[in-house]
Amino acid sequence: MNKLTTILTQYNLDHQNRWMDDLKAITPDQVQEQLTRTPGRFDLNRLAALVSPAAVEFLEVMAQRAQILTMQRFGRTIQLYAPLYVSNYCVNRCRYCGFNCTHDFDRRRLTLDEAVADAEMIASEGFRHILLVSGEDRTGVPPEYFCELTARLRARFSSISVEIYPLTQEEYARLFAAGIDGVTLYQETYDRAVYTDWHQAGPKSDYDYRLDSPDRFAQADMRRIGLGVLLGLADWRAETLALGQHAAYLMKRYWRAQVSFSFPRIRPAYEVRDQFDHLVGDKELVQMMLALRLCFADAGIVLSTRESAALRDRLVGICVTRISAGSKTNPGGYTGKHTTEQFTIDDTRSPTQVAAMIRSAGREAVWKDWDAAFTA
Ligand code: SF4
Repeated sequence: MNKLTTILTQYNLDHQNRWMDDLKAITPDQVQEQLTRTPGRFDLNRLAALVSPAAVEFLEVMAQRAQILTMQRFGRTIQLYAPLYVSNYCVNRCRYCGFNCTHDFDRRRLTLDEAVADAEMIASEGFRHILLVSGEDRTGVPPEYFCELTARLRARFSSISVEIYPLTQEEYARLFAAGIDGVTLYQETYDRAVYTDWHQAGPKSDYDYRLDSPDRFAQADMRRIGLGVLLGLADWRAETLALGQHAAYLMKRYWRAQVSFSFPRIRPAYEVRDQFDHLVGDKELVQMMLALRLCFADAGIVLSTRESAALRDRLVGICVTRISAGSKTNPGGYTGKHTTEQFTIDDTRSPTQVAAMIRSAGREAVWKDWDAAFTA
């Protein structure tokens, strides 16, 4: 058992019932005490207090503190990015996902030329940050594919990151050498039993390999580490504690990289009919975001088009630092190909409309705030 596994096992979801009892026992006084301390530093007791049911009555105060802290650390800027799906093939059977390999539809992976054409559309909207996304399609889109695609996109994009299947450290190093500077990889759930239930077959059924992936890409010098859980699979409060533990562990070991949190909630997807017992409401989502901000002053907070325009509008002025816009979740979506999407988005506004919303919230929409040349 490695150090990370030990940390997670010691505190959280293997003992989830105990954790839930602890969270319910937290009092308003304990929440208030945590709120009087300097915000921005991780402490498991602080995070527990802020995600506890007792903290619900302090959401307004938490939002005010989170807003001040975000302004101090990130200024008025909100970075914009767009995802580019290159393949909806997948060998896994995640029961919540439209790309599940048991779902019957015409699969599509983009040739390099097709992917570049989609990327050109994204660049023409103004984006200089792009996220390459794929199902677990190692045969069709191997690491070399992403290296070659990156070589063709580097002149157009100042930052290229990936959200793909887990790689070996050596493969991550090749991606980094090709110009990819960040990796997002959600653990989906830190609860081992729940994880096994939702990922019953395919390489993704290996919980530990996935859990160790951020270590591998951080050791390969990636500058951006994206973490998250799929909200809806397990209790969000306990998941937040595990996520916080994971982030604190990574920040300590890989202090040169920036850790970001994403908050993907389950969305309707092709052929997905399962019931989800832990769906997260807007208020709970906001509490989770605020609690993490107040424990991690320098962490990026990412909000995607999975969320409604109304919610994104409210959160942009409080704690969000990065936001997607005009997203397509199907391969070739930007050039009008009719392929199956991973999930349906909620905020369907154009990038221009989202940028206008950011400005009207008193923030600056930043299309480029990083250049790989800085670290060359
Ligand atoms: S969540 Fe990812 S790994 Fe799982 S089926 Fe969907 S694309 Fe494949």
